[in-house]
Amino acid sequence: SDTTPRQRGIAIPQGISKQRFFEAIEELKKELGSENVELNDKELKEGWYMEHPNTHDMMPILDSEELVASALVYPGSTEEVVKIVRWANKFKVPIFPISMGRNLGYGGAAPRVRGSVTIDLGRRMNKILNIDPDDYTCLVEPGVSYYALYEELQKRGYQHMWIDTPDLGGGSVLGNAVDRGVGYTPYGDHWACHSGLEVVLPTGEVVRAGMGALPGNNTWQSFPYGFGPYSDGIFSQSNYGIVTKLGMTLMPNPGGYESFMYTFQNESDLAPLIEIIRPLRISNILENVAQLRHALQTVAIKGKPRSTYWTGEGVMPQEVYHKELKKMPVGDCEWVYYGMSYGPPHIRKYKLDIIHQEFTKIPGAKRIDPSTLPADEYFWSRDKIAAGIPDLEELLWVNWMPNGSHIAFSPVSPIRGKDAEALYALAKKRHTEAGIDLMPAFCVGLREMHLIVEIVFDSKNEKMRRAADKCLRDMIDDAAALGYGEYRTHLVLMDQVAGTYNWNDNALMRFNEKMKDALDPNGILAPGRCGIWPARYRGRGWEM
Ligand code: FAD
Repeated sequence: SDTTPRQRGIAIPQGISKQRFFEAIEELKKELGSENVELNDKELKEGWYMEHPNTHDMMPILDSEELVASALVYPGSTEEVVKIVRWANKFKVPIFPISMGRNLGYGGAAPRVRGSVTIDLGRRMNKILNIDPDDYTCLVEPGVSYYALYEELQKRGYQHMWIDTPDLGGGSVLGNAVDRGVGYTPYGDHWACHSGLEVVLPTGEVVRAGMGALPGNNTWQSFPYGFGPYSDGIFSQSNYGIVTKLGMTLMPNPGGYESFMYTFQNESDLAPLIEIIRPLRISNILENVAQLRHALQTVAIKGKPRSTYWTGEGVMPQEVYHKELKKMPVGDCEWVYYGMSYGPPHIRKYKLDIIHQEFTKIPGAKRIDPSTLPADEYFWSRDKIAAGIPDLEELLWVNWMPNGSHIAFSPVSPIRGKDAEALYALAKKRHTEAGIDLMPAFCVGLREMHLIVEIVFDSKNEKMRRAADKCLRDMIDDAAALGYGEYRTHLVLMDQVAGTYNWNDNALMRFNEKMKDALDPNGILAPGRCGIWPARYRGRGWEM
């Protein structure tokens, strides 16, 4: 079924009576027009990535009615965002901003506090405000997706500029950057590549950060800092403001590109390979945020359910996926490296020769010749993404389970063999205990790597949901005990992850809370996001 009947009725936020809440909604309708305010009182509709609901997390790890909005509001301008914020302060209603709400794996469109009013910024605030063909920058509103930005560059004939896209191109350029998401060109660290923010504060003032604070400046998108404290950082992964404009730098077209793929035969090749990758990555011979993936994901990305290959209980045995890999163009292996070399042919050749020489120091390492790969091979999707061309093929591994849902474990570490091994070992141990297939992918940045382990689960199977939740929580604790932390997490895990960043008697969280209380005295904006609870909620049983 594509709807979930409601058991618990409309989610009225705590601390306000039902009647007063409906009065408040009527007032909001008067301010913004009734067509721009919607109660979330019907069945919860499911969907897929491109037609996703904005009312809740369509991949629930808890009861599907836990993280739901009471209402949705669609502002058309920064001034209307200010009106919503003032309204929320008046009625003390929690509000939760999303840009497009495609944050799947981390909570989708859901608010952290049940019954919050979700501000869906992207529906009406979706303009590309500027593209500068000389400075290679742009300025966007929350509703601009990677697809939209890419298509606009093509339409204007700006082929000299590239965008950077995450694995899926339907997300918001702004939403992904403020959640510090990643893509796969040399511009893959989206937050690092932004320049300039406009923010509505929780009390309704509007600020422009960086050079944007200087009226008449023309440097907002080319110099990120301005003068004085660099305030941008506090508006990423936080609940201190609603970002209404974001500047982004664009990559120059490198004048050619060439993807490559290597396979490695043994599980134990991981550590030596990572040791080889580090110096190549830091010196930019390996130029992009590349991926080293476990071979099981190469089977899963074919898009067929796991039951096609194996119907037994517990994790899929190694011999089963190896049998499948042998039939595929990739061939039998345990790890697959997807990378990209940029520039004209002679420059690429220089780098690719070094890479080949280094990678083949691992016994059994194989370069797969792309000309032998059919057009529907996943390699070509990675090729597009690393060239800044939005794609959707990555969604296919979600079919691994019926009612395919996923939730991510995303720790960071330096690019070191022993760190990769330690993280892989703890993930493997906890996945084996939980009977969940392990599909790790190391995304290698310049001096660190994000390990992304997506747990694919059946969201209609309560036992499996619980097992996935436990597996994640165990991995977060195990990782913290070894000194590793997550770069990003799902709404339901935010308290736990924030709790691991506890040096000096939780000094960082106490600082975050002080800032929250100063900026948001009524505690209305995204309470609990990233584990930051305002005074009105703190210590009252909201943490999980
Ligand atoms: P939103 O959902 O709009 O925003 C994310 C969060 O940021 C919101 O929940 C909100 O808390 C906050 N926020 C958003 N807008 C604002 C604002 N204006 N002001 C204040 N706070 C705001 N992600 C990656 O980064 N890289 C990947 O490679 C990647 N691969 C994926 C692969 C698959 C198969 C799937 C399903 C997901 C993947 N994701 C990846 C996760 C996700 O799809 C993207 O990160 C997506 O871009 C996030 O959704 P969005 O852009 O619509 O952001």
